[in-house]
Amino acid sequence: MATVTGGCLCGAVRYSAEADPTGVTVCHCLDCQKFTGSAFAALVPVQKDALTIKGTLKTFSSPGGSGNPLLRHFCPECGSSIAEETARRPGMMVLNVGTFDDPQIAKPGREIFRDRAWPWLHLEADIPRFAKAPS
Ligand SMILES: [Zn+2]
Ligand SMILES: [Zn+2]
Repeated sequence: MATVTGGCLCGAVRYSAEADPTGVTVCHCLDCQKFTGSAFAALVPVQKDALTIKGTLKTFSSPGGSGNPLLRHFCPECGSSIAEETARRPGMMVLNVGTFDDPQIAKPGREIFRDRAWPWLHLEADIPRFAKAPS
């Protein structure tokens, strides 16, 4: 575990958490592409009770792959995609590595929804890869 700090682009939202940044889930699903405005989401799970957030997040809810609501939290001022959570894993929050103060500490642990990955995108890592969600 490491202490991870981060925040949004404008600074209105700041967080700190105890997390293991060495097993990042890289999600290529279309919803993550939309939410991040980028090629994929890089995700690190943290226990909510090991996470402190300063500032107010806005939340967008949509059905996740399992059909359960997926909550996506972002800064209402600058729009930075901060975190996700699902009712399927209560007590957990998933942080978006792009908002870390030092994203270089993160290492990929697995790729999911690889069948939606942009064709020119290849991660240099020997990690499990799933065409869709892992079972
Ligand atoms: Zn902001
Ligand atoms: Zn996704």
